[in-house]
Amino acid sequence: MTEAVDRSEPLPDPDAVEHEHPDVTGGWLRPAVFGAMDGLVSNFALIMGVVGGTSANDTKPIVLAGLAGLAAGAFSMAAGEYTSVASQSEFALAQVEIEREEILRNKAGEEAELAVMFVEKGVDEDVAREVSAQIHRDPENAVRVHAREEFGVDVDDLASPMLAALSSFFAFGLGAIIPVLPYLLGVESPWTAIALSLIGLFACGAIVTRITARSWLFGGVRQLALGGAAAGLTYLVGDAVGGVIG
Ligand SMILES: [Zn+2]
Repeated sequence: MTEAVDRSEPLPDPDAVEHEHPDVTGGWLRPAVFGAMDGLVSNFALIMGVVGGTSANDTKPIVLAGLAGLAAGAFSMAAGEYTSVASQSEFALAQVEIEREEILRNKAGEEAELAVMFVEKGVDEDVAREVSAQIHRDPENAVRVHAREEFGVDVDDLASPMLAALSSFFAFGLGAIIPVLPYLLGVESPWTAIALSLIGLFACGAIVTRITARSWLFGGVRQLALGGAAAGLTYLVGDAVGGVIG
């Protein structure tokens, strides 16, 4: 039995209605963890490549490569993310502009189009026509509703390219600093950097399972194996090349 809705009750104030849901795509956690994982894997591998190709007691090239790798990777990620998000919202805004012109040019057609969309959602035709007519009283409001209904764009909530760029810069940097940290603190043996990196890989892989719903042990071990393999193979490359050019 469903409870009857009491329509004599006034509707709540729109500002008081809680529309916030946890972001089902994982929100900031996904890009942050993947960015950090990317930074960790690439810089761990880079450093192991340099370790493989240089003499054991010379840490200067390792620190240099580690910091340059961090900066280069973080800038590259930030630039890539900026372009990606910026072009995505430029494309969305171009579609919104087309919709705006259409609404101004062909009001009747667009009003009918919106009414059909409401009918498809289960609204009676006369109500759908009335709602659509009221939405179209303000053309800008109509543009906003059409954009959301037709191509899922929230005009007031477009992603910021700058924010995306900054977050990926810091996420990558955070992961990339892990294998360099022991050297910066004066530890000369690569084993501390290796241990720290493997712990970081496991942690990243385990955290990602919060999104993928796999077991954290599986996620951690998988990431540890993949990142460890990347670093091991790059070590072999460094070792081989170092022997040739040394
Ligand atoms: Zn439309």
